[in-house]
Amino acid sequence: MDLTYSDKHETFRQNLRAFLRDRLPEHISERVRLGQRLTKEDHEQWHAALQERNWFAGHWPKEYGGSGWDPVERHIFEEETARAHAPRVVPFGVAMLGPVLMKFGSDEQKNYWLPRLLSGEDWWCQGYSEPGAGSDLASLKTTAERDGDHYIVNGQKTWTTLAQYADHIFCLVRTSKEGKKQEGISFLLIDMNDPGIEVRPIVLIDGGAEVNEVWFKDVRVPVENLVGEENQGWTIAKYLLTHERTNIAGVGYCSEALANLKRIAGLEYQNGKPLIEDPLFSAEIARLEIDLMAMATTNLRVVSAAAAGNAPGVESSMLKVKGTTIRQELNDLTRLACGPQAMPFVSEALEPGSNVEAPGPDYATAATPGYFNNRKLSIYGGSNEVQRQIIAKTKLGA
Ligand SMILES: Cc1cc2nc3c(=O)[nH]c(=O)nc-3n(C[C@H](O)[C@H](O)[C@H](O)COP(=O)(O)OP(=O)(O)OC[C@H]3O[C@@H](n4cnc5c(N)ncnc54)[C@H](O)[C@@H]3O)c2cc1C
Repeated sequence: MDLTYSDKHETFRQNLRAFLRDRLPEHISERVRLGQRLTKEDHEQWHAALQERNWFAGHWPKEYGGSGWDPVERHIFEEETARAHAPRVVPFGVAMLGPVLMKFGSDEQKNYWLPRLLSGEDWWCQGYSEPGAGSDLASLKTTAERDGDHYIVNGQKTWTTLAQYADHIFCLVRTSKEGKKQEGISFLLIDMNDPGIEVRPIVLIDGGAEVNEVWFKDVRVPVENLVGEENQGWTIAKYLLTHERTNIAGVGYCSEALANLKRIAGLEYQNGKPLIEDPLFSAEIARLEIDLMAMATTNLRVVSAAAAGNAPGVESSMLKVKGTTIRQELNDLTRLACGPQAMPFVSEALEPGSNVEAPGPDYATAATPGYFNNRKLSIYGGSNEVQRQIIAKTKLGA
């Protein structure tokens, strides 16, 4: 196993850094740095800039218009974009649906949808979870009944991230009630502008509304929008989830959050001294930094094995649990470092274009909402409890 970067990878890193200096709009990186919410236009502008270099879906194979990055290049991309405060590429289209269409889509579907994903023409959201079908996803109840050349879809999805921006949703739907519940699920592409679809925002504990309920009432979906075979959706769903968990450890984001915490601890004072000089507080930072270094090394081992052709298995569950736990602990320490400055909870100040003045320094405004918002990290992409079950079953024989 080789944990050093090759010349090819170092050159890629230098090119990427130069690109980020030149092409990442300052107003966007400033919003990301301060933990402010982004507009749809911010995301689109960043996606378009990346696509100038063919980096919006750099990990896609060249035959489908990507750059054919290897896992190490993808890892470097995540690391450098986090360091530069670039927005994370919205994953639902290029990172989730793209690979699904490449593997399960018909030629017509590939030829039609993949170029539109790359150009950013279509914005996708993910319609998996329902009330009562999250961890136990196969219990989903949204139905799609065949009526001639159409499916008629009825039901409700929930927690649908950024559905308010989306013009399409990929959905798991029930097409059969026979046999095991996993056997009656299909994967359907639906136009969000179809009559019968309603999006209702859910306001989260941080005051933002990034997730939604999506309701379907007699929505007519052409049969050509079925991906794969009818009732084959569970296989597709699981394949997509392996892509959802790729890079979920977020080493780059953890490193950036650690640097931010140290910066704040150097600016905030306690007993006449910068907080970072407080032995108890700095011991907490050191503990997290050591944890992060260990996780980053494990992540590199997994990336290196993947580059040699070994698909990560249970390791992605391990990295998900560790990475999200470290990030939540960093959020917690950041909130503590800001002290009373983190107390005023002015969520509106994080909205794009807001003229609400936040009391206190800019770095403190997002400390509490950021802490609350990132409670999600241990829930989505498969909750950490469920990941621990997978680790226990696969590795410990429990
Ligand atoms: C901010 C956010 C964004 C999301 N975005 C999307 C999206 O875009 N699209 C989408 O489809 N979904 C999305 N989700 C949904 C997410 O995938 C689910 O919330 C997640 O799978 C957990 O399901 P649940 O909320 O129904 O909780 P439940 O499954 O009801 O779990 C409740 C609790 O019980 C625990 N638990 C459940 N089963 C077990 C078990 N077998 N062993 C031990 N503990 C268990 C869980 O860990 C959890 O703590 C999002 C969620 C959040 C919070």
